Amino acid sequence: MNQPGTTVEYLFENNAGVMQQTHAMSFRCRDIGLDCSFETTGTSEHKILREFIDHAEATHNLNFLSADVILKIKSAIKK
Ligand SMILES: [Zn+2]
Repeated sequence: MNQPGTTVEYLFENNAGVMQQTHAMSFRCRDIGLDCSFETTGTSEHKILREFIDHAEATHNLNFLSADVILKIKSAIKK
C-alpha cells in the first residue's frame, strides 16, 4: 500500500544532505588601481592569484610580483 503525502519530507532530507560550499571570490585590476577591465573569479585566493599573474605577465609586462603587490591583491579580493 502506497501512502501519499510523504514527498515533502523526502525532499527536505535530500536538500539538507547536500550543503556544498560554492563560495566564489573575485578580483579586478581596478581594485589595485590599474586602468584595466580584467576581472577574475575563483574559489580560492591561490586560484585568483595564479589567474592574475598570468594576466599581469601578458598584459602589464609584470614578470615579477613583489610581496607588496601580492598583499595588495589579497586584501582586494572580494570574498
Ligand atoms: Zn589588468
